[in-house]
Amino acid sequence: MTNLCLTLDYELFGSGRGNVFQHIIEPTERLLTICSEHNVKLSIFFEVVEYWKIKEYYENGVSMGYQCNPADAMKEQIIRAYQQGHDIQLHVHPQWIDAKYTNDKWILNLDYWRLPQLPMQANESISMGLNDLIRNGKRCLEEWLQVINPDYKCNIIRAGGYNVDPSQNLIKVLKDNDFVADSSVYYGGIMNSELSKYDYSELSQEIPYWYSSSFSLFKEDRNESGILELPVFADNIRRIHKYDWIRIKSALKNKTNAVEKFKNNSLKKSKWEMLGFILDKEAVTWDFCLFSTFKMKRYLKKVNKIQLKSSFPFHPFVLVGHPKDFYYSDALNYIIQYNRKQKGRFLTVSETVEKIKSAAVNRPAVCKEELIIDKINQ
Ligand SMILES: [Zn+2]
Repeated sequence: MTNLCLTLDYELFGSGRGNVFQHIIEPTERLLTICSEHNVKLSIFFEVVEYWKIKEYYENGVSMGYQCNPADAMKEQIIRAYQQGHDIQLHVHPQWIDAKYTNDKWILNLDYWRLPQLPMQANESISMGLNDLIRNGKRCLEEWLQVINPDYKCNIIRAGGYNVDPSQNLIKVLKDNDFVADSSVYYGGIMNSELSKYDYSELSQEIPYWYSSSFSLFKEDRNESGILELPVFADNIRRIHKYDWIRIKSALKNKTNAVEKFKNNSLKKSKWEMLGFILDKEAVTWDFCLFSTFKMKRYLKKVNKIQLKSSFPFHPFVLVGHPKDFYYSDALNYIIQYNRKQKGRFLTVSETVEKIKSAAVNRPAVCKEELIIDKINQ
């Protein structure tokens, strides 16, 4: 039985580009319809900072081209999704904190692209520090959703762009605000660009979760009082397979620079170097909005293998998706039908955390820290 967790990052593009209705509300509506047809619950990571800025500008008379209030539409959809049984948790992109809307576009503060770059408190370079950001984000969702369910808690987070390295300050703030889990890292993730920097290459796909140490979300501690990390599943696949037709079509529809990015990465390379580049492997997250059915089958095969060998009595797999990428529903429909046929389950992140905590006594005897080290030594 496979336990799958479908997580959705509810947001515009990281650059501030995009239209709330076209890139968030409408595709999320299509996702909610499919999920309600099959009684599948999503976990929606709501990007609260762009919501605050969009609301602030709209209420100050800047329509940003919208015919009706985009912030209200986001809030209404999130509350409705919660009423339908979906989980709502926190997503934060700090580059939005001091965003300005000028000349028909958002100008974001790229100096604060990564959550770990934020100072603990506001200073002259940024109007909100890490403490206030996490506290206010949590408060925003709890104020909306505790009206429906007084027991609702916003206590799980995903950092923008998978950036949680280094995570010492973030862990402290999460603990201070009663967060219990994070889902910001992915197996094999390595990024060293101007904006994003992290190295999760030492993580083993065989370890579905761990309690993090007090200094790093991607290092385990034997003490189970740490923040529980639920990594997004990813696999190393060749670039030639990553850029399949669905991904290119979605990039073209969104007019994103995915194709240009690929070209830029491969620029200044000889023919042989270029061949090496496209045949080279890269960790690609398991994406239920952007994958083709072919790729979905490939990942299912992989997780089934991991599941069969797993020493964990409860072994969840976390998938990721973005409404802005959701143009084709074939892969989502496929995985829903496949998992149901196999008697697999779809769990929300809150249900997953609850299950892990209640199954704590049944965890495998082998220390997962050792498993991580084994993997490095291979
Ligand atoms: Zn995001």
